[in-house]
Amino acid sequence: MAAFCAPYIAGTDANRTIKEEIVAVINRQSARKRISVTDLINPRQRFFERTHPEVQPSPERRQAMMAGTGFHEAFGRAVSTEEFVEQLVEFQEIVGKIDIYENAPVELKTTGSIPSNVFWRIDHVEQLGMYCTMVDRPMGYLLYYARAEYGRQPELRAFDLEFTDQSAIAAEMVRRRDLLREALRTGEPGRLPQCAWYGRNCDFADICGCAFAEPLVRMAGPNTAQVSENPDLAARLMGSITFEKPGPEIKLNDLVFPRKAAFRRAPGEEEEEADAQERMASLQRQGFDQMLGDAVWYGFPGASKRVPVTLGPIRASVLLFKGAPAILRTNKGQKEMVERKRLAEVFPHYIDRLGFECALANSERGRLIVYYSLIHDDKFMVYDIWFKNLGAIRAEMERRLDLLESGAPPEQLPACQPPWMVKFCDYKDRCGCGEGAG
Ligand code: SF4
Ligand code: SF4
Repeated sequence: MAAFCAPYIAGTDANRTIKEEIVAVINRQSARKRISVTDLINPRQRFFERTHPEVQPSPERRQAMMAGTGFHEAFGRAVSTEEFVEQLVEFQEIVGKIDIYENAPVELKTTGSIPSNVFWRIDHVEQLGMYCTMVDRPMGYLLYYARAEYGRQPELRAFDLEFTDQSAIAAEMVRRRDLLREALRTGEPGRLPQCAWYGRNCDFADICGCAFAEPLVRMAGPNTAQVSENPDLAARLMGSITFEKPGPEIKLNDLVFPRKAAFRRAPGEEEEEADAQERMASLQRQGFDQMLGDAVWYGFPGASKRVPVTLGPIRASVLLFKGAPAILRTNKGQKEMVERKRLAEVFPHYIDRLGFECALANSERGRLIVYYSLIHDDKFMVYDIWFKNLGAIRAEMERRLDLLESGAPPEQLPACQPPWMVKFCDYKDRCGCGEGAG
C-alpha cells in the first residue's frame, strides 16, 4: 500500500538547483563550524560531547536533559502565540533558539527547585544575556517553573533582567565561539575554559583534564545585570496556563499514523514521549543531518520561516523553505536513492506528512528533503512534489481527526504506513494491521 496522498501527487521533480545551493551552504558551514548559544554556555563540555560520542550521559543526566523537552513549546504556546514561540536567531555566526520572543526574549527553565538568587544559576543569566544581545534588546525575562511533584504545587517565578553591558556579552560570545571552533578544528580542548559546574559530577571528568583549564570569563554578573522579580508577570502567566490536558493531545503526526494514535489514546494507555522528529528539531543534533537542517534553517537568510497552522484542536507549524512547505527526513534504511516515482510507496509516511502540511498551508507544492544516511558521501535529495486536490487531502485529515476525537476503535482507522512499522510497534499483537482498514 502506498501513501494516502499518492493519488493526489500531480508531479515530482528532483530539485537540483536547491540541492546545489544547500551543498554550497553546507560546505561553507563545515569550514566555519556553526556554533549555537547552548554550545557557548559550557564550551568545554560541548567539545567533549561532540568529539566523544561514545561517552553517553548517565541515566540520571539523560533524564535531566530530557526534562522539559516538548514542555517548553507547550508552555510557549499556552502563554503566547505560535509566531513568537521558539524563535530562531543568528548573530555573528552563532545560532540560537529563544523560547518566546515577542517584545523581549523569554527564557524558560524547568527545575526541581527555583533558585532564590538568579545569579546562582549564572549559566541561565548568560543564556538570556546572549539572546538579548543577539536581538539587540536590553531586557529579557527569565522564568522558572517547578512542576507539581510529590504532592507539591507547581510554582512559576518570573524575573526581569536588564543587561547594561551588551558589548561585553557580544565580545565574550565571539571569544568562546572562536575557542570552540579552534578546539573542534584541531581536536585540542586545552584552551577551552572550565565549565560553570566545574568539579561537580560530569560525564567527561575522566578525560577532560579541566583542573588545568582557565576559569570561564563571565559575560554578565551582578554588576552588569539588574534583576528584579516580577510577581505580576508570573501570576499572569500562571493564570493563562492550563497544564492539565483534557486528554491525550492529538498531533499532526497522529493523522499520519492514525491507528497507532487510536491505540495510544485508548483508556489506560500511556502518553508516548516526544517523537523522534520533535527531538530532531533540537539545536543539539549531531552529524550531517544537523548540518543539513542548519543549512535549510539558517543558510538562506529570509528563506525559511515557520508558519502556524491549525486543524481543529491540532496546532502545528509548517516550515516554509523558499516558499514551499518542507520536511527534512533522515532515512536509515535505503542503500540507494529512491526513484521519484516510487517515493509514495517507499516513503508513504513522508509523503502523507508533506501532503498534510501542504493541505494545511494551502500550497500545491511541497519539498521533501531526504538524507540517506546509509549512502556514502552524505547523499541527500531535494524532491519537489506537486499535490492536486488539497481539499480532498484536508477532508481525509478531518475524517481521521473526527475518528480519533470520537474514540473510534483502532480498526476503523487506516493502518499505519509503511508496513515495516509493525515490527517496532507496541500494538502489533492486537492490531491486525492492515486487515480491512480503510
Ligand atoms: S570535567 Fe569539568 S570542565 Fe570538563 S567538561 Fe566536565 S564539567 Fe566541564
Ligand atoms: S500494528 Fe501497524 S497499523 Fe497497527 S498500530 Fe502498529 S504500526 Fe499501526
